[in-house]
Amino acid sequence: MARIFFLIALVVVLYIVIKRFAAYVDNSQQPSKPSPQAKGENIVQCALCGTHIPESESMQQEAKTVCKQQPCKH
Ligand SMILES: [Zn+2]
Repeated sequence: MARIFFLIALVVVLYIVIKRFAAYVDNSQQPSKPSPQAKGENIVQCALCGTHIPESESMQQEAKTVCKQQPCKH
């Protein structure tokens, strides 16, 4: 008789574990793309220091793409 209770307990525990695991998988998949950088932003290279920077951090100077902050801090 004790064996049946043990089996039932085992099934219940397994059920809870599987449910929690499914919830965990759901949660870990939902936060979509945690990349803070705006997607689709171009990366450009500074003509002066050679650093690769997002386009929003750059500016045009004498027809060259350079760091927004001048002189270059890099
Ligand atoms: Zn630069």
